[in-house]
Amino acid sequence: MKSSKLFDTVVVGAGISGCCIAFKLQQKGQKVLLVDRSSLPASGGSGAAGAFVSPKIGKGSPLQEFTTEAYEYAKDFYLKYFPKHFSQTGVIRIPKDEDDAKKFKLYETFNNTKYKNIDEEELKSIGINNAQDSFLFEEAGVCDAPAMCRDIWERVDFLQMEVDSLEYSGNIWEIKSKFNNIDNIKSNNVVLATGYQNTLFDMRYMGVKGTWGSRGDYYSKLKLDVSMHKSISVSANINGIIKLGATHNKSKNPCMVCDGKPLQKLEDIAKNMVDTSDFRLKEIFCGMRAGSKDYFPLVGRVVDVAYMLETYPAILRGAKPELKHIDNLFILNGLGGRGFVFAPLIAQILSEHISEKKELDKRVNPDRLFLKWCRKMNN
Ligand SMILES: Cc1cc2nc3c(=O)[nH]c(=O)nc-3n(C[C@H](O)[C@H](O)[C@H](O)COP(=O)(O)OP(=O)(O)OC[C@H]3O[C@@H](n4cnc5c(N)ncnc54)[C@H](O)[C@@H]3O)c2cc1C
Repeated sequence: MKSSKLFDTVVVGAGISGCCIAFKLQQKGQKVLLVDRSSLPASGGSGAAGAFVSPKIGKGSPLQEFTTEAYEYAKDFYLKYFPKHFSQTGVIRIPKDEDDAKKFKLYETFNNTKYKNIDEEELKSIGINNAQDSFLFEEAGVCDAPAMCRDIWERVDFLQMEVDSLEYSGNIWEIKSKFNNIDNIKSNNVVLATGYQNTLFDMRYMGVKGTWGSRGDYYSKLKLDVSMHKSISVSANINGIIKLGATHNKSKNPCMVCDGKPLQKLEDIAKNMVDTSDFRLKEIFCGMRAGSKDYFPLVGRVVDVAYMLETYPAILRGAKPELKHIDNLFILNGLGGRGFVFAPLIAQILSEHISEKKELDKRVNPDRLFLKWCRKMNN
């Protein structure tokens, strides 16, 4: 660590969300410390991700609208600050089957971002086997997650530390680790960006859950200039590497489900999409992505659950008292399958809230889930 031990903000977890908020707060002039249990960048879900940055398609749901907003913000952010780690390959969204192809016709009206239709013949000319009309989002692309996270680690203070408790007294947080024997890190604010292991406080109401996924990186000479997503993601060939990836497995024992072959299904699907005959496996990545109950990210303050349940037992029966939050404790989580799309925008939202007291966006504020969770507990 380069400097003294009282920080404006300590960010726990250095995946893409922790990295983005640390970066944003530092840009706003804060003294920030980023900590992670691992000494390697993007060791959690972020390291396993295909890290596509593309919009959501659908029938114009509020989640689709938010995702498009985040996508527009993310590509500009990556191009401005991390152009070396963002390849703007374009991303083609291909229908999964005939039924899905029919839905694409309805989705077209809601593609509120730059795109074009691309048919079977055009797909063939760029090396993709598919009969159905697809959408090409030319400005979408793929991040190099470890390189991007490492770049941010090098710009802010970083410390390898497995946090096991946080104590608040005299308006200051003390961040502790019995594992690393570190106990004198102090901060005005703490941001929890710990991914699926969201257990440092009682945050059950946020309903963070993990979905397991895998990715294979393959050496290949195949000319493939564009990335694509069908039921799995296949990246463009970037520096001789093509990435296949998907998250699909909600099982508690994902490795038993994969039975030692996490890439089998991906390879079976990919060979019907592109010519995989020269693919040679370089590396396998497996990881857990953390989703919220309603698929919107979780960005904001943390409710003091014990206080609320003790002080207002009637909340279990539908009372709606004002929420009390834990002082100067914030969360950035629940990014689901779109961590690289959401992270820059939600980091911007949280950094403005922390440093300028700007009101949080209600769509992502985890407060939305608390009273519902209380009522459900009573049923
Ligand atoms: C196979 C796969 C493919 C994916 N593809 C895409 C994609 O194409 N596009 C996309 O946008 N998203 C994709 N995702 C989703 C994306 O990876 C996640 O949304 C994103 O990585 C979440 O980032 P995060 O920073 O919130 O969590 P993580 O990356 O999991 O980071 C959490 C960090 O917290 C650290 N940590 C936890 N507890 C502690 C503690 N107590 N003390 C210290 N450190 C701690 C962990 O070590 C970890 O580094 C994919 C995910 C997977 C698994």
